[in-house]
Amino acid sequence: MVQQPQTDCQASEPEHRIGRAEKDIVALGVVVAAIILFVGTGSAVMTDLVRAYLGAGIQADRLLGNALILNIALIIFGWRRYVELTREVGDRRKAEETASRLAQTDPLTGCLNRRSIGPATAAMLADAQRQGTAVVVMMIDLDKFKRINDIHGHQSGDDILIESTRRIRAMLPERALLARLGGDEFACVVPIDRAHSEHVENLASLLNEGIASPIQSGSLELDVTVSIGLARSDELLSGVDEEAAQQLLHMADIAMYQAKKGGRNRYYWFEASMEKELRFRSELEAGIRAGIPAGEFVPYYEKQIDLEDGRITGFEMLARWNSPAHGMISPEVFIPIAEEIGCISELSETLIAQALRDAREWDPSLTLSVNISPVQLRDPWFAQKLLKLLISANFPPSRLDIEITESCLHENVGVVRSLITSLKNQGIGISLDDFGTGYSSLAQLRTLPFDRIKIDRTFVSTLGSSKESSTIIEAISSLGRGMDLPITAEGIENKEVLALLKTFGTFKGQGFLYGQPESGEAVRRMLAEQNLLAIAPVPGGPTTPDLLAPLRTATGS
Ligand code: GH3
Ligand code: MG
Repeated sequence: MVQQPQTDCQASEPEHRIGRAEKDIVALGVVVAAIILFVGTGSAVMTDLVRAYLGAGIQADRLLGNALILNIALIIFGWRRYVELTREVGDRRKAEETASRLAQTDPLTGCLNRRSIGPATAAMLADAQRQGTAVVVMMIDLDKFKRINDIHGHQSGDDILIESTRRIRAMLPERALLARLGGDEFACVVPIDRAHSEHVENLASLLNEGIASPIQSGSLELDVTVSIGLARSDELLSGVDEEAAQQLLHMADIAMYQAKKGGRNRYYWFEASMEKELRFRSELEAGIRAGIPAGEFVPYYEKQIDLEDGRITGFEMLARWNSPAHGMISPEVFIPIAEEIGCISELSETLIAQALRDAREWDPSLTLSVNISPVQLRDPWFAQKLLKLLISANFPPSRLDIEITESCLHENVGVVRSLITSLKNQGIGISLDDFGTGYSSLAQLRTLPFDRIKIDRTFVSTLGSSKESSTIIEAISSLGRGMDLPITAEGIENKEVLALLKTFGTFKGQGFLYGQPESGEAVRRMLAEQNLLAIAPVPGGPTTPDLLAPLRTATGS
C-alpha cells in the first residue's frame, strides 16, 4: 500500500490574531498596574502594619490594610489570567494553523488545492518579475484514470493518486509548487531561468516516463500514463496578479487537453491557435446540445444496390448536422463530440425515429440500415428503446438492419452478444460494419450471429491500385461463402472497381458510383419516379396492417 505523503503546503498563513493579542495586553496591563500600586503604596502601608503587629504603638489604618490585601489578590488573579490567556492564545493559534492548512491543501495527497494554487502562483509570478526570470505551469492529468477506478476500485485509484504525487514531487525543483486541482488533475508551477527553458522539457519527459512505471497497489501492479500541458509566463499579456495566474493555469490546461487529443502520454506547449480550436469545440458542444431538440440533425440516405442486377435494396442512414452557425458539418466531426459529452444516445434515437418515419413511406422491399455507437452498445436498455421506436413508427423489424463496427467487439464481447441476441429475437438484422479494420477473430465471427459482413471502404476503393486490398477482399469473400454470410462492399466509387469486385463473388454494394447520400425528401422523389414508394392507404379503404402486433403483445405496449 502506498504511504500517505507529508503535507508541503507553501501558501502563506492568514493573520487574524489581533483580538486575542489585545486581551493578552489588557491582562498583562492589569498585573503591571497592580504591581506598580503595590510598590508605590504597599511599602509604606506594609511598614505600618508590621509595626502595629509588633506593638510599636502605631495604630494600623484598616482601610489601607484591606486595600493592600485586595492589591495582592489582584496581582495573583491578574497573573493567573495572563498565564491562562497566553495558553489559550497558543492553542487557538495552533488550531487556526491546522484549519488554514486544511483549507489550502488536498487531504488525500497533501498538495495545495485548487483554491490556494492561484494566490501561490501569483506570488511566484511577482517574484519572477522582480528577479527577471519566468514561470512555467505544467498541467498534469492521468490518462484513462476512470477505467482504473472502474476495474480495480477506488482504493487502487487513490493509491495511484498518492504515488503519482510522490513521484511528481520528487522530480520537481525545490521552489516549485504542486497542487491537486481535483480528480486526477495536478498543476506544478516551476520557476525557470529563461536561458535554460529546455530544463522544463526535460522535466516534462521525466514526468511522462517516471509516472509510467508500474505502481504497486496491494498485490496489483498498475500502469498509468499522464498527459501534460505546459504554459510559460512570457506568453501572458500582462500582470502578475491572481488573474494572470489563473490565465496561465488555463493556458496549460488547454495544452494538456491537446496532449490528450494528440494521443495521451505526452506533453504539449500552449499555442494561441489551441485556444481558438477549443473555443470552436465548445461552440460545437453547445450547438449539439441545442441542435438536437431544434431538429438540426437530419438523416441522409446512401443507396444500397444488388450488384448483380443493379436494383436498389435499401438505404444506409447517415447523420448530417445543418448547423446554423457553421453550415453542414460532417458526422466525423460531431459524432465523437456527441459521444464525449454524453449526447450520442439522444442524437441517435432522434435520427432513427426520423429515419423510420421516412422509410415507412418506401416500398416494403427496401431496408433501412443504421449505425450505432459503442456507447449505445453498452446501454442495457438499447434493445428496449429501439423496440419502442419501431412500435411508434409501426415499422417492421425485419426491414431494419443495425450495423455494429468491428472495433466495438473488443470492448465487451459478452455485452455485444446479449444485445445482438435480443435484437435478433425481435427480428432485426445485424451487420458487422467496417470489416477488415478491427481484427476480430474467426471465433468471434462464428459465435456472434451476424446476418451480413460489410467490407470496409478502404479496401474497396483501392481495389484497382493495391494488391493487398484485392488479397483481403478475396479472403473476406471466401470467408463469407464459407460461413454463409452475405457481403456488402462499401466505397464503390467507379466502374473499374465495380468490375473488379464482381470477379470475387456476389455482393451488395454502396458508394459514390450510385450517387451521393441524399435527404429524406430527395430519396422520396427518386423512389416515386421509380415506383418504389409504399402504396398509400386509400381514404375510407382498409387500414394499414399493424406490422408490430406480435411485438406489442410481447412487450405489453
Ligand atoms: P482522460 O484520459 O480523458 O483524462 O480520461 P480519465 O478517465 O482520466 O477522465 P477524467 O480525467 O475526466 O477522470 C477523472 C476521474 O477521477 C473521475 C473520477 O472517477 C476519478 N476521481 C476523482 N476524484 C477521485 C479520488 O479522490 N479518488 C479516486 N480513486 N478517483 C477519483
Ligand atoms: Mg484523466
